Amino acid sequence: MIVSGWGRYPKIDSNVSRPHTRKEISKLLAIGQTIARGSGRAYGDSAINPINTMEMRWFDQFAGFDPAAGVLTVNAGVQLREITKVFVPRGWWLPVTPGTSFATVGGSIASDVHGKNHHLVGTFGEHVKEIEIMLGNGEIVTASASQYADLFYSTCGGMGLTGVILSAKIQLAPVKSGLVKQKTIKASNLEELFELFEENADVPYSVAWVDCLAPERELGRSVLLLGDHAKKGGVQIDSRQRFKIPIDAPGFLLNRWSIKAFNSLYYSKAKQGDEKLVGLFDYFYPLDKIDNWNRMYGHSGFIQYQFVIPKQNGADNMRKLLGRIAYLGEGSFLAVIKLFGGENDNLLSFPFSGYTLALDFKVSQKTIDLLNVLDELVIDMGGRIYLTKDARMTSNTFRRTYPRWETFESVRQKYGAIGKFSSAQSVRLGLL
Ligand SMILES: Cc1cc2nc3c(=O)[nH]c(=O)nc-3n(C[C@H](O)[C@H](O)[C@H](O)COP(=O)(O)OP(=O)(O)OC[C@H]3O[C@@H](n4cnc5c(N)ncnc54)[C@H](O)[C@@H]3O)c2cc1C
Repeated sequence: MIVSGWGRYPKIDSNVSRPHTRKEISKLLAIGQTIARGSGRAYGDSAINPINTMEMRWFDQFAGFDPAAGVLTVNAGVQLREITKVFVPRGWWLPVTPGTSFATVGGSIASDVHGKNHHLVGTFGEHVKEIEIMLGNGEIVTASASQYADLFYSTCGGMGLTGVILSAKIQLAPVKSGLVKQKTIKASNLEELFELFEENADVPYSVAWVDCLAPERELGRSVLLLGDHAKKGGVQIDSRQRFKIPIDAPGFLLNRWSIKAFNSLYYSKAKQGDEKLVGLFDYFYPLDKIDNWNRMYGHSGFIQYQFVIPKQNGADNMRKLLGRIAYLGEGSFLAVIKLFGGENDNLLSFPFSGYTLALDFKVSQKTIDLLNVLDELVIDMGGRIYLTKDARMTSNTFRRTYPRWETFESVRQKYGAIGKFSSAQSVRLGLL
């Protein structure tokens, strides 16, 4: 069948198997090469093997919970929204969550995802106490920071290339409410936004929505949404999807003018200093409300480009990158900036101390050419591009920006992963 990531680009023919048990997984591994896939929320081609893709979504049981320590044992196919629905009413929640609740535990570990609180608590993998991994020969290994540590640090962030994650023990965080206190602050340009991020660095969650197409003086004008868990208000959760995009939108719907109009409207509607209580799903997963929103970009699909650049000269560098995007008129509906804390020990993990920006582009040759130019600028600034969003980075760019890739390959070699676990992305990036 034809398979793609959330960006619907590229589209690749693959045989998709859906194992429900460990035995079925080991049988599939005995047949030949594969890659694990969760919910397919990675944007590009990381969860697709052109021969066989193993969809782990159906390997989805809760395996145990220690209420005294808040440690959850869960199979890799469980989606984060299920954990949220079951555990928030019991007073526990994920210490780190990406912007979609549909991500599975396996996918969240393999991409070492980050949330709106990276600057304070790091990545998802930093809250995983141990992982059960099935190696290419069917052997099951329990890896953690203290046993099979090399495998652990390669699997967290390793994009499925070390083995199949079967289950994980995750340290949950206590919460008292299913509501979030949200404060809106408007910034009139990038410099102001970066100052606001630093001033509010002790607030648990922060994310800024940025208008890429504002006039030059106001480039980077943005709406910063700060958040913290409320102490009261009940622990009920509303996870309903309210809208649906039933068909592909015509490609012409999203153009320079419609995006610009949307961005200006969003900025002018936000109320400076507004403070309110919002539902947990509203704050953390606003896009999950719209079923199939990825169809908005038309049949050819879209690429989400996410990079991180160091704090030093951060505003100047971000201005340069946004300026280039605006000049070519290729900006997106969604441009999001977050603050990152320090780098961790996971060999291919994306975040390091600095600022990250993510934005969507409709796929076209013009987009690909622009992104190649942006890559060079990001590399010169000491930055890197996020693997879980990537659909077109070259092997040269990867090697220059993920300096621990050779150690990663040697760990894969040691555990028999080479030739067994491979994705369309790993081939493109020159990983064996
Ligand atoms: C709306 C939206 C918002 C997002 N926001 C964020 C964000 O804020 N922060 C962030 O970091 N990411 C974000 N993402 C990206 C998303 O969180 C990651 O791509 C995540 O990995 C998706 O999980 P998945 O289960 O869908 O994995 P998939 O997309 O299916 O796979 C992703 C990677 O994980 C591997 N994998 C999956 N399951 C297993 C397994 N059992 N064993 C071994 N490897 C496995 C795959 O091989 C692949 O390399 C967002 C995505 C969307 C669509």
